[in-house]
Amino acid sequence: MLTQERVETVPFLDLPAQHRALRSELEAALERVLDRCNFCSGDEVAGFEKSFAEWLGVKHCVGVNSGTSALHLALIAAGVGLGDEVITVPMTFVATTWAISYVGARPVFVDVDLETRTMNAEQVERRITPRTKAIVPVHLYGQPADMKELLDISRRRGIPLIEDAAQAHGATYRGRPVGAMGQSGCFSFYPGKNLGACGEGGAVVTDDDDLARRMRALRDHAQSRRYHHEEVGFNYRMDGFQGAVLSVKLKYLEDWNDSRRQLAARYQRLLEDLPLEVPVEAPGRRHVWHLFVVLHPERDALQRGLQSRGVQTGLHYPVPVHLQTAYKHLYHQVGDFPVAERIGRECLTLPMFPSMTWSQQDQVVEALHEVLGEIG
Ligand SMILES: *Cc1c(COP(=O)(O)O)cnc(C)c1O
Repeated sequence: MLTQERVETVPFLDLPAQHRALRSELEAALERVLDRCNFCSGDEVAGFEKSFAEWLGVKHCVGVNSGTSALHLALIAAGVGLGDEVITVPMTFVATTWAISYVGARPVFVDVDLETRTMNAEQVERRITPRTKAIVPVHLYGQPADMKELLDISRRRGIPLIEDAAQAHGATYRGRPVGAMGQSGCFSFYPGKNLGACGEGGAVVTDDDDLARRMRALRDHAQSRRYHHEEVGFNYRMDGFQGAVLSVKLKYLEDWNDSRRQLAARYQRLLEDLPLEVPVEAPGRRHVWHLFVVLHPERDALQRGLQSRGVQTGLHYPVPVHLQTAYKHLYHQVGDFPVAERIGRECLTLPMFPSMTWSQQDQVVEALHEVLGEIG
């Protein structure tokens, strides 16, 4: 008689597990907001801003309603406007370039480096023109970009650096936290990020008092005082419930990042002998492994094979930004940014979350062995 073996699914990420572990603490925090009705900004948000700024070692944190809003405010504060150019990468989540488009500027792309998958600093200078008003590197997947080189260029050319740190809470470059090195740093607290709200959220951090004051006003209808609006503002305030949730979760972030790092090291060891391009931590950097992205030429077959063995995977990101229909007015074509395009074709994101068990990870590795054996 055949025995039916039940295949457990390995989820891509396990948010329910995170929330089960923190359930009572989160409920108490949410009840505090409900009791005090500080729903829009308010003390819970102010409390989170203070802890997040201290944790990063920056002077100011401006809590907002998403990472996209954070990038938008950072670009306005940097003085980027209509007709300006902003240098960034085509291999990122598209929100990086949305913010550039919102201020009426043009994204100017430089390719990413294959090893680190972040901005290829060597290609930046030749894309600088008199209109270049900002450089926006992305700490993609949790790996810090080449900050020494980028900060050098920024200082030498007088062009502000705005860090997209939406995937890299707690990553460091030569000991310095990402987000705290440029003129400003932008974070997202979308639920699946390394630090995630129970809903939408984001923050801009900076050491500059004037920029912080302006961004604080801008997120709240540009009110310096109530009903006095000095410029066109936004409703980008952080939700009170999210501030409360984020204060609870921030205390666990270091431990969660450590777990991700252990899992990443274990993946690297277990995948060593497979015909896969496995991601690495670049020297001098502390990678926080928001995503563990391998490359393989038969990506789609690999993904299907893993799916049939109960392993959920993701794609980050299958269509580079320069080839998105939304940016067809930039007239880019296939071949313009070969590394980003190769990542787009070959990327496959393996399950990675702090509470992942070794047996779940073993199941992923075993499934990879089997599928790669079949694909050849
Ligand atoms: C998630 C993300 C954003 C946008 O953040 P939201 O909170 O979803 O608006 C921006 N850039 C990168 C690289 C991201 O991963």
